[in-house]
Formats: sequence, C-alpha cells, structure tokens
Amino acid sequence: MARIETLPVRIGEDLIIGGGHPIVVQTMCNTHTSDVAATVAQTLELAAAGAQLVRITVPGLQDVPCVAEIKRQLREAGCRVPLVADIHFSSQTAIAVAPIVEKVRINPGNFHPDHDQAREQFARFLAVCKQSGTAVRVGLNHGSLGRYITDRYGNTPHAMAMAAMEWLEMCIAADFYRVVVSLKASNTVVMVQAYRELAALMQQRGVVFPMHLGVTEAGGGDSGRIKSCVGIATLLQEGIGDTIRVSLTEPPVNELPVAQYLAMRGCSASPSSTGSASRLPSSLPADAGTGFGGANPAAAELSPSGPVDDGMLDAAICWGPKLLKREIDEIPDSAGLSDYLKDEIMQAARRRFYKPEYIACPGCGRTMYNLQETFEEVQRRTAHLKGLVIAVMGCIVNGPGEMADADWGYVGEGGGRVTIYRRSEPVLRHIPDTEAIDRLLELIEKDRVGQSLSES
Ligand code: SF4
Repeated sequence: MARIETLPVRIGEDLIIGGGHPIVVQTMCNTHTSDVAATVAQTLELAAAGAQLVRITVPGLQDVPCVAEIKRQLREAGCRVPLVADIHFSSQTAIAVAPIVEKVRINPGNFHPDHDQAREQFARFLAVCKQSGTAVRVGLNHGSLGRYITDRYGNTPHAMAMAAMEWLEMCIAADFYRVVVSLKASNTVVMVQAYRELAALMQQRGVVFPMHLGVTEAGGGDSGRIKSCVGIATLLQEGIGDTIRVSLTEPPVNELPVAQYLAMRGCSASPSSTGSASRLPSSLPADAGTGFGGANPAAAELSPSGPVDDGMLDAAICWGPKLLKREIDEIPDSAGLSDYLKDEIMQAARRRFYKPEYIACPGCGRTMYNLQETFEEVQRRTAHLKGLVIAVMGCIVNGPGEMADADWGYVGEGGGRVTIYRRSEPVLRHIPDTEAIDRLLELIEKDRVGQSLSES
C-alpha cells in the first residue's frame, strides 16, 4: 500500500519528518535532565547508535537552564542530533524551553484542567514556537485523555482521534504547520485503530500532519519488542507512519536496533531475506511482499546498530498484523514458529492471552528507582496470574494517568516508596519498596478470593 502523503516538517536544520522522507528513528533519555553530564553522555551514545532525534524530559522551569547547557555541550562535541523537550502539564515550561530545542512534545489537554484555559495556553505556546521555528509534537496517550473528551466520546480510539483533531485545528488556525502528531496506547488494537481514524480525519480535512508511531508502555524483553513490532508494522504496512519509537523498559540504546529494523523491514509483510532462515515463517501468505512499495527510501542504507533477533522480529512483523486485522485466527503450523513465539505474537495482537498482560513505561528523567529491575521482579512473581493486566510505572506524576486498562498498578514514587493502584484508585500509599510486591500479591489474592466467593 502506498504511503499516506503527509506534510514535510523540518526539525532543526538537518532533519525532515514526513513528506515522503525516510522514516525517522527516535528514542528518549532516561537520565535526570538536571544531571547534565549524564544526559550529554547518554545523548551522545544514542546519537552514535543512530538515533535521529533524542527526547529528554523537562519536569519544570528549574530544568530549562540544564537543557540549554546540554545542548551547548552536545554541539561543542560536534553532535547535531535534534533535541525534543518532553513536557507534561506545565505550559510555562513548554514556552520557556521552546526557543532552546528543535521540538517540544506536549499533550495540550493536560496544560490545564479547564479546557478553555488549556486552549489559551496552547495558543500562547504555538505563538512562541512559530517565532522560534520550533516544531511541536501533539502527543496524546490513551491513558491520559481529559474528561472533556471522554465524557463526549468515551475512552475510545475515536475519542483519541477527535481530541487530536481539535489541537491540530488550532495549529491550522494559527497558520502553524511544524507539527507531528501521535496517539499512543499500550493496547495494539486501540493504538492501530486510533491512528487509522486520525489519518482518515486528517485526509478528509485536507491537511495531513506526519505521524509518530509507538506502542506505549510496551514493557521489555521479547514481549516488548514483539508488541511494538505488531502495532507499528500494522500501520506501516497501511502506509501510516513517518517517525517511530520503540519504547522498552530497558536502557534506551536497546530500543534503536529494533526501531531501525522496523524502519527497514516493518513496511513489508514479507520476512527479511537476510533473516535467520531456519526460524522464518516458511509458508508466507499469498500477499506476502506487498507493503510499502519501497517507499522508505533510506531502507537500503539502514542497518540495526546492535544485535536483533531478526527471526523473532520478522515473525512478529509478518504474522502480527494479519492477526490484529483478523485476516487469520491462528498462526499456521507451516510457519515453523515455536509455541512460545506463537503465544507471544497472539498475545501482542490481543487474540489469545497465555500470561498476564504487562504495561510498563520505559522510564525517563522522572523515574526515581530501578524500574527495569523492579519490572522484571514483578513479572517473575506474577507470571501465574493469567488474565490480569499489571502495570509498573516509573513515576507518580504521570504513571497513574498513563496506565489505562490496568487491573493493578505498581507506581514508584521515589525515595524507596511505592503506591499500589487497583484500576484507577490508589489502595496503598507510600509503602516501602522492599515490601511492595508482597503487598501487591496479597491484594490480588484477596481480590480473587472475594470474587470466587461472590460467584459461588
Ligand atoms: S510514566 Fe514513566 S515514561 Fe512517563 S513520565 Fe513517568 S517515568 Fe517517565
């Protein structure tokens, strides 16, 4: 399928997203932005590994001078990678940092609880970006849609697309077109549907901004990689997507080889000819080979910057989209995949659940504890709880809002303290992290006993 035509958006001097340009691969630092040396070092590492855009979190106004210093040191070191400031809630911070960085990522709906005031603040922010030549990502997540939207449309993919369209209309009205848009969700079905609706709405409107794709809070390991491949490749094969991030609860440099492989191969429904032949699907569907039509011009020049399990990624890219689109109900035995890989792809496409569903953010400069280690421990100790959705989130500021659909949430507060959520309600606050997983398991057990008693 041909790639959807989008506006070209210039990011700094050297990079263009959209407009038929090659898919841009990006990632995000997980260092504290106030730790300038660590953030500079990590950005250099990520740029060297092929990140074409690096995002850093900017929690508040006090961090803005650090961003200026990080950029100064990067440029002095000869690194020209564009920087994206990641802002939550504070329009003041967004406005202050906009002239320093090449792009700012915001969710305008959380600028203010009052929708009219959020609109006013967004308009002021756009005026600053227009003046400074800074690009903007309007980035909405399934878990953090405001009441203003969910009261009207429910917590649905349609609501996500409609919410984005409102902010995009404001950009058009302000004659501001340096805009990229994203609608991430951890549920691949929701994520794919939201982007499809958004693409259709923008096409009807006659202004199609480039789209940033990602499966948010995908977790880590094989599951995180497979879930990202299933969601992102489904859209790439439909011609949707101009820039991608694979979010993993791991060091950010691990995200890049997977994203590069997806940019290279995800547009096509057929496996790589350079993949591990013995592990590849041996019988491809009749339409194998159709896809992006070679429309990612840089694909030939791309290669993963680190090791990837290409057989696993190819299998997810090939079979995941067919399952997600319900073109098939099972991966055929003739594909030659292991039961483990079949189960993982089936679950990533949300067709069959063989273990708990995990939601885990990648962590960022707001994370105040060892997220990866904790997530791995939670997975080990809850592996038997098939049917539950368990979230592990890196910060108390955004974590609770972002873990839509989770039955249980482990949210690190920093300072060795944790809050446990049951759906959207905090049920245990400020408990020591040394006992948090035990307490979570006790609560889950109590809940299950209560449920089986009420059913009997
Ligand atoms: S939820 Fe995770 S990725 Fe999002 S802001 Fe908090 S720590 Fe960062």
